[in-house]
Amino acid sequence: MAKAISSPSKTKELLASYGLKAKKGFGQNFLVDPMITKKVAQVAEAEELVIEIGPGIGGLTEQLSLIAKKVIAYEIDESLKDVLYDNFKDAKNVLIYFRDFLQVDLTKEMQSWQKTFTKISVCANLPYYITSPVLFKLFEQSNITTITVMVQKEVGDRFYAKVHDSEYSALSVEAQSYYQIKKLFVVPGRSFNPSPKVDSLIVQLRRKEEIPSFNRSLYFQFVRDCFSQRRKTIRNNLQKKYTIDEIEKVLSICNISINQRPQNVSVEQYQKLFEVLYERKSICQN
Ligand code: SAM
Repeated sequence: MAKAISSPSKTKELLASYGLKAKKGFGQNFLVDPMITKKVAQVAEAEELVIEIGPGIGGLTEQLSLIAKKVIAYEIDESLKDVLYDNFKDAKNVLIYFRDFLQVDLTKEMQSWQKTFTKISVCANLPYYITSPVLFKLFEQSNITTITVMVQKEVGDRFYAKVHDSEYSALSVEAQSYYQIKKLFVVPGRSFNPSPKVDSLIVQLRRKEEIPSFNRSLYFQFVRDCFSQRRKTIRNNLQKKYTIDEIEKVLSICNISINQRPQNVSVEQYQKLFEVLYERKSICQN
């Protein structure tokens, strides 16, 4: 039986024979533990269409391709073209685009994929330098059922941080507004080539049955505005966009003190604030 791409010896052999070195600038840390790539693919609910961001040399892609009807992967590094082509030339269900995922028109792609696939999930070992923008981009899509990602432990902790926690951030509020979040397991630094100094975490976000009906993009922008400066009050952070009068009225309707800082406002309170501010705009104009 052929060795898995993510086995340490196979990864080493592939990197050497294609003259490749992990590029720090692209956040390249290849997973070299076949037990982990297999386990992640198995829990990713990837049986229909699964989207992967950053396939690298294909360690996780290979395991996903054994489960999914289709794997669509986006890789920014064109120097990986040959190795990926050779590794997947016989896999009819793997499609790799050499593009910066952050530049992809995901809404348009989702619309076309939905014509063929009943379920779309995401599974990726994310490049650490763009973890948050990638996740914010995924959160804008309402039709992704499950997102299973490997992230640095400190970012993982932000997903389920609760109000008043020091890690509680815009990422926590956005994620918890739309997803049930489960910490799956810790992946030690030694499971990667090269080994990062910090451990990683595999986190799964499953879309909630009942989600807020308001405009996601506006809501996310609002949450990010509230968190724009953590040490300032929400009232001050929102001043760039609203009048003091508008903000104070809305805070008062939601029973939130005008001195409240963003990390002390719960997910439910953010939703209420947004609803009042945007969907009952007339209140602000009185
Ligand atoms: N999936 C592989 C694995 O688990 O071994 C590689 C994961 S490595 C942490 C991150 C991958 O994302 C690298 O292959 C890197 O080149 C790619 N990448 C970095 N920035 C990207 C971007 N903006 N769009 C698409 N891929 C990107």
